[in-house]
Amino acid sequence: MPVNSATAGRPLIDVVMPAYNEEASLPRVIETLFAELGSLPYRFELILVDDGSSDGTAAVVRRYQAHYPITLVSLTRNFGKETALLAGLDHARGDATVIMDADLQHPVALIEQFVAHWEQGYECVYGVKQNRAGESLPKRVLTRLFYLGLNRGSGIEIPPNALDFRLLDRAVVHALCSLRERVRFTKGLYAWLGFRSVGVPFVPPPRQGGSSHFNGRALARLGWDGLTSFSDLPLKLAGIVGSLVSAASLAYAFWIAVRTLLFGVDVPGWATLTVAMTFLGGLQILFLGIMGQYVRNVFIETKHRPNYLVRELRRPEPGAATGTPERNAEPTEAAAMSNQSGEQARKLDAASAAKSKSGKIAAA
Ligand code: UDP
Ligand code: MG
Repeated sequence: MPVNSATAGRPLIDVVMPAYNEEASLPRVIETLFAELGSLPYRFELILVDDGSSDGTAAVVRRYQAHYPITLVSLTRNFGKETALLAGLDHARGDATVIMDADLQHPVALIEQFVAHWEQGYECVYGVKQNRAGESLPKRVLTRLFYLGLNRGSGIEIPPNALDFRLLDRAVVHALCSLRERVRFTKGLYAWLGFRSVGVPFVPPPRQGGSSHFNGRALARLGWDGLTSFSDLPLKLAGIVGSLVSAASLAYAFWIAVRTLLFGVDVPGWATLTVAMTFLGGLQILFLGIMGQYVRNVFIETKHRPNYLVRELRRPEPGAATGTPERNAEPTEAAAMSNQSGEQARKLDAASAAKSKSGKIAAA
């Protein structure tokens, strides 16, 4: 929505959108977004995070920057959606921030309801997937089991069908950006933060253009990261299963002793031995693997690498915000290191904006 004298002074709402190879759907997403938000009594700014796309995602965004207030944050490579979200939030400066996907699966029309809840005092408003009818039975069962395990083992309540389509008050954004962990499961982080939250149910439409980046493997990876960064249930389960197996082998040993005393030695039980050995061997390796996962998380965190790296940061020029396509900015910043807090990111941004020259850019 263009900023003009009528909208100046209104609360600013940022829309953070991570995009990875979304050139097909972006034009429609951007146009729908600003067309629908234009009627609301707020100022909106889109913060688009190009998560290392190999297609023309960034070029599409640059083109639209001439017409709409859009900030482009280009990461140096694909860091994954959870990290791309953090990069976007680090650059948010609004009174509230909406986060949504770049494929119109998160209906823009719902933002008005989100904002209404925010005005009522909710600090976090999230979309809730109303039915999972389009999903296969195994996926639904696994999802349910996952949340059951996660909520049991983490001590926090993560709503099962809550989506990454949210409105966060400035205070929530600030708090979320202060959590710099690298093994990120953002849905768990919202729950950990607390704040007054409310869900808004809706039925997500199918994807507009492109295809989902979360196949079975990527989902399993995210789920496992979520479990091992929020819950010690896998470790506890390993302990419980280990004790049960030990108890069973003790009982078995006792039974063999009694049987030998009563009936003497019969044919040596090589089959039993082999089964027991392989079973126990497998169990040990499995539990080592589970422990290894927690060691991996510690390993990743102790390296203290930045969460992500920014190749290019382009803030909208005031001219672009008024809808004047001729005026725009050159790239304002190259490769800024970004494991700083949101506050630091904002300072860095201000400094680089001061350095930047204004001029013309070729619309890509
Ligand atoms: N995404 C991203 N980085 C990635 C994968 C996905 O920024 O490595 C973005 C993607 O462009 C989209 C959002 O995350 O805006 C959700 O991805 P997708 O639609 O593929 O997931 P699904 O809706 O199938 O869960
Ligand atoms: Mg999607």
